[in-house]
Amino acid sequence: MSEHPLPATSQVMIDFTQMKSFGRDPLIIERGKGIRLWDVFGKEYIDGVSGVFTANLGHGLDSLVDVAAEQGRKISFSPPTMATNPAALALADLLVRITPEQYSTVKFYSGGSEATENAFKLARQYHLQRGNARKTKIIGRYLAYHGGTGHSMVAGGHAEWKWRYEPLNTGFIHVTPPARPGCSACQRLGGCTLACVDAIEEAILREGPQTIAAVIAEPVMMSAGVHVPPPGYFARLRELCDQYDVLLIHDEVITGFGRTGTLFASEWIGAWPDIICCGKGITAGYAALSATILADKVAEPFWGEHEENIQFWGGHTYGGNPVACAVGKAAVEMLIDRDIVGNAARVGAYFGAGLEELAERLPGAKGVRGIGMLYAFVLQEHRGRAVHLAARERGLLFRPGPDFVVLAPPLVATEAEIDEILAKLEAAVIEATA
Ligand code: PLP
Repeated sequence: MSEHPLPATSQVMIDFTQMKSFGRDPLIIERGKGIRLWDVFGKEYIDGVSGVFTANLGHGLDSLVDVAAEQGRKISFSPPTMATNPAALALADLLVRITPEQYSTVKFYSGGSEATENAFKLARQYHLQRGNARKTKIIGRYLAYHGGTGHSMVAGGHAEWKWRYEPLNTGFIHVTPPARPGCSACQRLGGCTLACVDAIEEAILREGPQTIAAVIAEPVMMSAGVHVPPPGYFARLRELCDQYDVLLIHDEVITGFGRTGTLFASEWIGAWPDIICCGKGITAGYAALSATILADKVAEPFWGEHEENIQFWGGHTYGGNPVACAVGKAAVEMLIDRDIVGNAARVGAYFGAGLEELAERLPGAKGVRGIGMLYAFVLQEHRGRAVHLAARERGLLFRPGPDFVVLAPPLVATEAEIDEILAKLEAAVIEATA
């Protein structure tokens, strides 16, 4: 129980949440350890969604807090417009070493939206500086989410999350994603023909390849309800992008740093992009940090003398912050040194099998989608919020969708902890779908 009386929750706004109803039964998290959280009223929860796909190493890790404190005592802020710092250099070096050899350059920011936002600016300027000034349009996919700021929001494909903020930025085109039942072609043709990649080629050709700067895609679409792409989707997309001189941007803000059982999802989808956007798990939630990791080919047109004026025209005050970068380096090293990515793959497979078994057994369930430690448990009806509330009552937190709930525990979870999650989920689904 908190030692002090709490100020009113009406004084803060929570993301995507109606504050009046939130205030009636607020969730106010006070501390955490491993996969567990405690609220100010002393109630214990299992963090079934790693905060928001972020606390991948679990909560309450003293060693990461110590890294932040140690770095803060040396220098907690370095001016991003005229300097960098040893922590940022060390993390950039680590990221370049753990990605394939075509990646040479990193630009840091402080959140995932800044990473995708700047990926579009980088792509447009890349083409401009190579003499293709008309290559400005970005192709995104319906049901995608790439962030809440201007361009990143427009690149996303949920109309409901955008229309209130019209007029929207122009120059963004959307195509059907490989998200069944979103893919009408699959339904019509009775199976996957990768018609959704053909749709991207058609968009490129109809708009004119000379006008297309980039395609952005999440390797696994989370907010669409965790859709794993069909085999061959990204390899074919990669070929198309090369064919039409279009940059491929992977939004690995959720999938990066182990979530799908490999360090980056680009590894198992069989295609690497020209720009990797990452955030969230890069510090496992111990500091605010994100990055774009650029292939040589993208970085090269920005490399010049002062007089050439070809530098990137953008930056953010907290981008490459020394405390965040020191924590990021320690978090990524921990992920690798302790084989936490391997744990995500192994325990993730156990989790997936357990969810499948539940889905077969429970009348209110329809199926499971996902990979690694990222799953949607799909419901027969639009009972996502009801299941979420019933689970919260039982001390399990996850993310509700309309007819699914998304589970993504910290990557350090054990099989015993997964069993606890499955038991609580089962009870919640039974209550909410009865
Ligand atoms: N991209 C994806 C796939 C995301 O899920 C999110 C956030 O959830 C973002 C980008 C934006 O990241 P942030 O909320 O850190 O700005």
